[in-house]
This record gives sequence, C-alpha cells and structure tokens, in this order.
Amino acid sequence: MTLEEMNKFARCFDSSAKVFIKDDSPLMKFLAFFVRLFNKRFSAGFATTIGNRVYIPKLWLGRDLSRLLIHEVRHIQQCRWCGLGIHPWVGFPFYLILYGLLFFPIGLAFFRYLFELDADARAWAWSLNSGEDTSSVRSRSESFAKTVASWDYLKPWPASWVEKGFKKSFEKVLVGFNRA
Ligand SMILES: [Zn+2]
Repeated sequence: MTLEEMNKFARCFDSSAKVFIKDDSPLMKFLAFFVRLFNKRFSAGFATTIGNRVYIPKLWLGRDLSRLLIHEVRHIQQCRWCGLGIHPWVGFPFYLILYGLLFFPIGLAFFRYLFELDADARAWAWSLNSGEDTSSVRSRSESFAKTVASWDYLKPWPASWVEKGFKKSFEKVLVGFNRA
C-alpha cells in the first residue's frame, strides 16, 4: 500500500484518520528516545497511533496493511469514546491516562491490555469476514497476546491473564462470526 492508499482505507473506518510515516516524524523520534529503553523495535517494528494520527514505519510501505490499519483505527475510535464521541483529540488526554498510567504503568496497566485486546478483536473479526482461515487468525491472536504481555508493551498485565483474556475474546469473536 502507498501512504495515499492507507489514508483512504483508514478513513473508511474513521473519517478523521490520518496516516503518516513514522521515520519522518520528530514527535515519533522524540518518543522513540524513551520507548527504546524497553522496546528496541519501536521505530521499525511497530505502528503507533496518537489521537487521530497513525504512524507507520517506512519499511512497511508497499505491504498490505489493511488488517493493521483496522487495529490502529480502533485506537482512534477508543480515543473518540474517551472524548464522549466528539473528536479523538478531545478524548486523548483521558485515553493517555487510561492507556499509560492506570493503575500503574508496569504490571497494573489494565486499560492498556484492554485497549489492545479490543483493537485486535476488531481486526480478527475483519480478517474472518475477509475470508481468512480461522486457524491463522487464531494463531496471530495468540502471538499478539504474547507481544502485549511482554516488555514491548511494558508488561501491562500478568502474562497468563493476558493470554487467557485474548483466548476468551477470540472464541467470542468466532462465535459471532459463525452466527452471522
Ligand atoms: Zn494497538
């Protein structure tokens, strides 16, 4: 996908969405300075969403990032909910507190776990609806659960609980998909 295609795709799901190249952003470089203390692959291996802005590593240009964008745009919508539906930036300060600080940044960041689970569940449903194999979507959900539970996400919640929560949500998404 080109940057233009990504913007077009993302705006189908939230009209405020804007996609940028992470490598070109001074804000992302500033953030990377701190995040790389616990996540070495932050700049080249992770997309980051702030408010209505999605930052994609330059290396990923040309790939099909639809599924990833579904996940990232869900974070934009989560921000919007935190701002009572007005705009992602209205909700961003509250989102940031929930995502980063409550109840404690490491080990007890329940909302970071919850927001990642919710965003990925959206992407699982999208993948299943797009005709992807159940087993391949499930195995991706399991591997993302491990990533979320790791230092890459600053260990938000006990790993076994994260994995259990992801598993339970995946089965719920699957039931919904099979029923539809
Ligand atoms: Zn995410």
